[in-house]
Amino acid sequence: MKIEARFCHSGRPPGMVYCQHVVNLVLSYLDGTLDPNERRAFETHIADCRNCWRFLRSYRETVSLGRQLRDEDIPPDVRDRLETFLRNRLHRPSGY
Ligand SMILES: [Zn+2]
Repeated sequence: MKIEARFCHSGRPPGMVYCQHVVNLVLSYLDGTLDPNERRAFETHIADCRNCWRFLRSYRETVSLGRQLRDEDIPPDVRDRLETFLRNRLHRPSGY
């Protein structure tokens, strides 16, 4: 799959975190379970990529909002929809 270069600075060394990985890593990042290298790569990407930074911020707000409520106040399907919404904002179809 081709990386959306217009959302990310190109010319970075290989091994960096790409946008699609950010979606997968963000939960571990907020949980503090990323290993130090992943965490550093993640933060480097976030600092560089406004799109992912916004995604992280939305996600963090969502999570902290979720923690203020009791678990039973948020039906799982709502959480799923929210996550899908956030993912779709990041993963625009090609030809956008
Ligand atoms: Zn990105």
